[in-house]
Amino acid sequence: MMTTNTHHNIINIRLIMTLGVLMMAVIICSFLSTDLKSTTSAAASHKDSVKPHTPLKHVRSTQKPKPIAAKQHNDPSHPQRTTAAPDVHIPTLEDGLAPVVTSLPTKQPVVFLTIDDGAHKTPDELQTMNDNHLVASIFLARLFIADNPLFFADFTKYGSLIENHSLNHYIRPAEIESYELQKQEICGMADYEQQTYGRRPIFFRPPGGAYSVAMQRAAADCGMKAIVTWIAKANGGSMQYQIGDHLRPGDIVLMHFRPEFQQDMRAFLDAMNSQNLHTELLENWMPPAK
Ligand SMILES: [Zn+2]
Repeated sequence: MMTTNTHHNIINIRLIMTLGVLMMAVIICSFLSTDLKSTTSAAASHKDSVKPHTPLKHVRSTQKPKPIAAKQHNDPSHPQRTTAAPDVHIPTLEDGLAPVVTSLPTKQPVVFLTIDDGAHKTPDELQTMNDNHLVASIFLARLFIADNPLFFADFTKYGSLIENHSLNHYIRPAEIESYELQKQEICGMADYEQQTYGRRPIFFRPPGGAYSVAMQRAAADCGMKAIVTWIAKANGGSMQYQIGDHLRPGDIVLMHFRPEFQQDMRAFLDAMNSQNLHTELLENWMPPAK
């Protein structure tokens, strides 16, 4: 009897010790995971405090550019819609001045493509956009499109939108600073586009990129919601960045309808795909109507 009891006691002691070790392990694990969680949320709140237009640090991607992926459909009966919920919005007018937008501080994997002027018009341009499921805000100046404005109407059937790049594309400082001339140029092109394409533009892109308070006021008075500049461009077959060496979420990219459209588009697509970004319309990132 004694022997059996002792044997049982030894088994009980072993059992208690094993349970004790297991409990210790569970307690240590839960401490570790709490520690991890608090580190993660600290990193997130630090990220949240990054101000708009503060250069963001990115780890350079070592991935090869993806094959061009079908992220947005191009059936004209189903216009392309924004696929990422906007987590930031374009600022509203302040003191009667249109805000100037260079990029949006979004965390969504989106980039905003803009294509300017409209001088070069060949059917392969729309084809390339559709083949790659791209949408863009297209900033036209009447100077460049008066010979064939309806060439650009087809782009809108596939989800792109036409915006305002002035009537005559003036880029001299005195012209930029003249309220009256800016109003003629911006309101004149808004009216022309409304008549030609059936939609009034909401964005103005300053020819050459320089802007003034007079221009911001004239743009607002003509009903424009923002002056849209850019932070990166596809130009001469390669990408040029104002900050860093690759595209980041929320970047506004400038391109042109030029003879080198295909080379510029190739450079843009490679830059976009290497960062796992896709195009969306800047127009969908307006603040919700009140
Ligand atoms: Zn231009």
